[in-house]
Amino acid sequence: MSHSAISSALRTEAAVYSRHCCCYCLSQEDVLGMSFTVDHIIPKSLGGETTTENLCLACWDCNLLKQSRIMGIDEKIGEEASLFHPRRQKWDDHFRWERDGLLIAGLTPTGRATIAALRLNRPMLLRGRERWIAAGWHPPQITW
Ligand SMILES: [Zn+2]
Repeated sequence: MSHSAISSALRTEAAVYSRHCCCYCLSQEDVLGMSFTVDHIIPKSLGGETTTENLCLACWDCNLLKQSRIMGIDEKIGEEASLFHPRRQKWDDHFRWERDGLLIAGLTPTGRATIAALRLNRPMLLRGRERWIAAGWHPPQITW
């Protein structure tokens, strides 16, 4: 863990804003049974601040895969695109669920670049989603 000095108030605000979901893969804290990390959407190394508008919840794997990036590759057009910004952009504008919630499909260069960079359809997530769908727990209804 970095010593990023995220206050408990900021952490709580990010969790409430994020509906206790990872803002990228939309996995739910309650389903996984673990607290997620607070992600600096613009990394501190790139000047991102520890303020409400730059913080969101991210699961551990998405956070690890994101690293200190704000750009990814849209493999459909072979060009760089900015990664999804959960505070400034709406998830539904850039992604959609396919196969009842098993797969995340990208609707835009940002959506596709984020899926590739954060591997939003990684095998471990697919194994989980299969079970969450069967249980009626997934996909979550997110409207931010
Ligand atoms: Zn995630």
